[in-house]
Amino acid sequence: MHYTGPVFRPPFEANSLLLQVTTGCSHNKCTFCTMYRDTCFQISPMDEIESDLQEARDEYGPVSRIFLVNADPFVLSAAQLKAIAEKINAVFPEVETIAMYASVKNIIGKTDEELKELRNLKINELNIGIESGMDEVLRHLNKGFTLEEARTQLKRLRNAGIDFSANIILGAAGTEKSLENAIADSELLNEVKPYLIFLATLHVDPGSPLYDEMQAGTFRENTLGQNITEELELLKRLKLEGTAFFGLHTSNVIPVAGTLPKDREKLIRTLEDGISGIPKNLFDARPKKGYEGRAII
Ligand code: SF4
Repeated sequence: MHYTGPVFRPPFEANSLLLQVTTGCSHNKCTFCTMYRDTCFQISPMDEIESDLQEARDEYGPVSRIFLVNADPFVLSAAQLKAIAEKINAVFPEVETIAMYASVKNIIGKTDEELKELRNLKINELNIGIESGMDEVLRHLNKGFTLEEARTQLKRLRNAGIDFSANIILGAAGTEKSLENAIADSELLNEVKPYLIFLATLHVDPGSPLYDEMQAGTFRENTLGQNITEELELLKRLKLEGTAFFGLHTSNVIPVAGTLPKDREKLIRTLEDGISGIPKNLFDARPKKGYEGRAII
């Protein structure tokens, strides 16, 4: 199998076959992200994809779920994705879902008809880095799309029958606008209705523009207590039916996961108990890099 440069996948894709169709990230400009900074974006040649598919078939036999890598394979044109999905369906006729990371801006260039065709070829459950429901935060993070584009494009996906999970970054707005960010996140999520919400806490590595802002004091990150409170405020405002609330990212201080609205009260209680149980010095501390999720262990 070909895997070039760093390869990331969501935790809930742990059992999926990872098939490389692109390398790196076509955007590669988010101000907080260094994941693919040194990797050139490339599209894998079709003969390489075909030989990887055959190798995987010989090695694993039937596969029900495939996750295309790397950072945003949905940037490929509808025709390219269609050709890849047709190959997958030919080699793995039993496949149920072909998932991948996608950006809101990858949806813009595809027609409604094309989105439906891709869905018919089993492309579904895209993982989308929305990060925040605040327009100014999306601009600040340089996500490459506006809040209005997120609203419009995510609804187009749903209308085409394509489900998506929404990545949300706790603390994306910084310390001054933490509550405002929670409210804006909940409003957007209630409107676009993801099948899963994947929460992670802002983690900024040296080498990123946001890290430089933090060093210069022009961006102040949330305290640990604010991150948990932001998550709680967001959760309390969600009015979604059947959406998974997945807060198990290692960067989160208190791991929580469940389905809304069934587990809502239990999740709220866990976060509230966490807030009241954390010593004040930790509650007011800023996360230590790399140890955000282990602060209270
Ligand atoms: S956050 Fe995602 S879209 Fe942004 S640069 Fe990193 S990998 Fe690319």
